[in-house]
Amino acid sequence: MSYQYTLQLHSGSFQKSNYTWEEIKAKCEHILAHIQVKQMIIGWNSDPVLNQKLLDYFHEKGIRVLLWFPLLLQENDERELKKMIACDDSESDFCCPTHLHNAHACIALYEKYFAKLPFDGVFLDKIRYASFSQGYEAGFGCFCEECKKQMHSVDIDYIKTLIETHDLRLLRGEYDRYGRYHFADSQVNAFYKRRAQLISDLVFKLAAYFNSRKLIVGADLFAPILAYHVGQNIKEIAKYVDFIKPMMYTHTNAPAAIPYEYNVYLRNFEHAEPFSKHFPGGPLSNKSLRYQMDFIKNVPATVIPGIEINPISGVCDVNADSVKEHLRIFNEFQNIALCWDVMRMDDAILTVL
Ligand SMILES: [Zn+2]
Repeated sequence: MSYQYTLQLHSGSFQKSNYTWEEIKAKCEHILAHIQVKQMIIGWNSDPVLNQKLLDYFHEKGIRVLLWFPLLLQENDERELKKMIACDDSESDFCCPTHLHNAHACIALYEKYFAKLPFDGVFLDKIRYASFSQGYEAGFGCFCEECKKQMHSVDIDYIKTLIETHDLRLLRGEYDRYGRYHFADSQVNAFYKRRAQLISDLVFKLAAYFNSRKLIVGADLFAPILAYHVGQNIKEIAKYVDFIKPMMYTHTNAPAAIPYEYNVYLRNFEHAEPFSKHFPGGPLSNKSLRYQMDFIKNVPATVIPGIEINPISGVCDVNADSVKEHLRIFNEFQNIALCWDVMRMDDAILTVL
């Protein structure tokens, strides 16, 4: 089976690189000798010398290069660099999606460190609300004055009471064919609908800006069963970007991976059946993965399922067999993204691609 591969390479934080140019070149030379690569997603170290070398190297081989650009989450040392407003009332480092200031801060950061380099596109990451893995209350997002204003049609006091009591009205609902979860309670439904709209609006604004610079745009999304719960309306976001990469991470014991996020969800509600009943056999059963694929296969953007290929003991216990199994599960897609850091991929995995 031959896929068109997208490779994700974590070059470091904005200020600190993970690898030298020589290390990256040696590893990629080896990988490119074995598989066909269509595009690279590289980020988010801002060293212009390293980035120019990477761009020259991949462009010479006819491979397009996208900047991997995290938006609403920032590490402490990067907050100063982005100058963004954090979510109100939240234990997490997520930033408020509605303050226009934050969208402008992302664009200003891009313009300062990356705009002069010939990237072919931008890959928008962390374009969502915090999930429950950042804390139970953080998982409901931002309640700052700006957000409350944007949610004028929602009874926020009612929602806050449900949150405080871990009320099952925050769980009951049904998925539609695009993975949107329709909550049975009309106020809860209005709340989640508005959240998703605010995230979609931000994607629209940023995509319009990057498109005006003739850049293609991709978006990193949670797995389809979880995306809407963190504010990502897959069908809507897919209208504004060229491709989406759902994180079909099944072996990672960390935030954003399916089993991790699903289990945190269940831990926060004593009786989580109204939610878990949608996943007989658990979220990773073949039936569930098939169900999730159905949510995304007809959206108006290229779908590139993201699979884990970096073994990290205790964090991402992936191996050649599990990668092979994933390639089989996603065989109706032409494109596959190898995530999230090809620098850590071993030869045993490379041989099954
Ligand atoms: Zn806010």
